[in-house]
Amino acid sequence: MQNYDKKQERTLVIVKPDGVQRSLIGEVIKRYEQCGLKLVALKMVIPSRDQALKHYSVDPEWALKTGTKSIEAWKAKGLTPPTNDPIELAEGVRKTLLDFLSSGPVVAMVWQGMHAVGVIRKITGSTEPLSSVPGTIRGDYTIDSYSAADSDKRSVRNIIHASGTVAEANNEIPLWFNKNEILNYRLVAEEILYDANLDGILE
Ligand code: ATP
Ligand code: MG
Repeated sequence: MQNYDKKQERTLVIVKPDGVQRSLIGEVIKRYEQCGLKLVALKMVIPSRDQALKHYSVDPEWALKTGTKSIEAWKAKGLTPPTNDPIELAEGVRKTLLDFLSSGPVVAMVWQGMHAVGVIRKITGSTEPLSSVPGTIRGDYTIDSYSAADSDKRSVRNIIHASGTVAEANNEIPLWFNKNEILNYRLVAEEILYDANLDGILE
């Protein structure tokens, strides 16, 4: 089947403690559900610090990427970042993230479908609430910035974690779900989304 692999693409989403506390679980699920992706796993947990540490340690390039992104965001606002070393900045962020993620219940999910990773990131919006555009979840429901979060030594309150790449998703999903917790099933809507000639509609 053409594009078969892309239709099976999976991504990890976590509604972080701020999303749960702000009663946005349903809104987040609704947005992903309505775009056509399929929910294949779901659980509510209070992550341990160890679980949080595993989650934020899987991607070896994460610290460099996250630190660089944050430093650029400080500079773009004409502000001086607390450090020019991206690894040092990201290590500080990692510490605050461990406290944040393990501070209360979160909802972990696996979404599956065509370009699942990219589509979920698009609907979620960019990491820093100040620059995430309206229409995205972060753009519509968050008001934070890196500079505010970094000065207060806390992590940016942006409601959601969503895997950044397919490789990241493949590393992250097993940290939250056993194989038997991820369901294989057919969603009727997939016939409209993926069927090449729609020959199942007319009687
Ligand atoms: P996520 O991985 O949560 O989906 P992301 O991939 O857009 O978001 P990352 O760069 O992986 O962002 O950062 C992970 C999380 O760390 C962010 O969602 C945010 O909560 C927090 N974070 C990132 N940079 C900063 C920063 N400079 N100050 C405070 N918190 C930050
Ligand atoms: Mg990330």
